[in-house]
Amino acid sequence: MSDQVPIVIIGGGLSGIMAARKLKEKGYQDIILVEKSRSVGGRMATRRIEKGKIDHGAQFFTVRTEKFQAFVDEWIENANVKHWFGDDYYRYMSVDGMNAFAKKLAEDISVRLQTRITEIKKNTTGYILTTDEGEAINARAVIVTAPAPQAKTLLENDNLKVDTKVLQKLDEIVFQPCLVGLFQMQQPTNLPNSGHLDSELPEGVMRLVDHEKKGISEIPTVSVYMTGEWSKAHYQLGDEAVLEKIKQVTSAYIDFDSALSSQLKKWRYAEAVQFLRQPFLNTNQEYPLLVAGDAFLHSQDPANRTRLESAFVSGITVGGELVKLLK
Ligand SMILES: Cc1cc2nc3c(=O)[nH]c(=O)nc-3n(C[C@H](O)[C@H](O)[C@H](O)COP(=O)(O)OP(=O)(O)OC[C@H]3O[C@@H](n4cnc5c(N)ncnc54)[C@H](O)[C@@H]3O)c2cc1C
Repeated sequence: MSDQVPIVIIGGGLSGIMAARKLKEKGYQDIILVEKSRSVGGRMATRRIEKGKIDHGAQFFTVRTEKFQAFVDEWIENANVKHWFGDDYYRYMSVDGMNAFAKKLAEDISVRLQTRITEIKKNTTGYILTTDEGEAINARAVIVTAPAPQAKTLLENDNLKVDTKVLQKLDEIVFQPCLVGLFQMQQPTNLPNSGHLDSELPEGVMRLVDHEKKGISEIPTVSVYMTGEWSKAHYQLGDEAVLEKIKQVTSAYIDFDSALSSQLKKWRYAEAVQFLRQPFLNTNQEYPLLVAGDAFLHSQDPANRTRLESAFVSGITVGGELVKLLK
């Protein structure tokens, strides 16, 4: 097996980043993280609006495992993460917005942005991956961390002959979408001092966040998160129509007369409502080809839901497994 051929991780969200960090920690330098978007982070997403910022994917970390607590504590010490709200059950936030934290985590990793992998095929040294630009990237081992439906599309080809049981496992994972309204405001909002509200909201509304109050935006910006069910029911509507509906249902909380601009973010794969109880899938090919991500929960996971912590655990576990397989 040639050391010149790199390990490729598909997907630069938290799972992919943590898998790469684990491999680096174990001495592997020849890793390429391939991400289709303009930035790493995936669902750790922050948008800039004028002088403002809006987290419009994950808002906070919750911690239920010692490993993740140790990781969060280290980043608190480095002043990248801090306690946001919750006295008994802490919610932690990234001080510069979620995406900046993802970028920090990926700082020492070789990343290929704006590169979508469209095909994985076997070759004599492992795999050959094709990008949307038609470029070929060789890999001696591959970790796929794209959300399960996208991962399945990559694995379903006659050349790979991935066991149907593996593909069926991926089919068991079911994601719900999330529609998020992003608003730049003229005036500060009346949301609580933390900037976060997720209780006693109208049906269909999951969460409201004022990012000036959260402390990441110089100007008032608001994100309105709709529930999975609401998002599913409204996903096919045009952006303007969805934004109008979001304004209607939340007008008692936000004064939209002072909104300077509005945008819609549509997450097709936001949260897995059906997930697996194993931190990764091994396709058992001649050369390692593993699948991981937030929907791969550890068997002992106490939360029963997909989240940043499950992405973190899946990422470091699959990274550790690859180290074993490469030995
Ligand atoms: C609206 C929303 C709110 C959330 N709120 C919270 C919260 O408050 N707290 C919490 O803990 N969790 C929250 N989550 C969940 C959390 O964001 C995810 O669990 C976590 O970020 C998933 O990380 P991941 O690496 O598994 O997947 P992702 O972040 O989705 O990363 C996968 C990456 O793969 C890339 N990719 C896909 N296909 C390809 C391809 N073919 N080639 C190259 N790249 C590809 C994608 O662009 C993406 O960047 C939220 C999620 C959403 C959407």
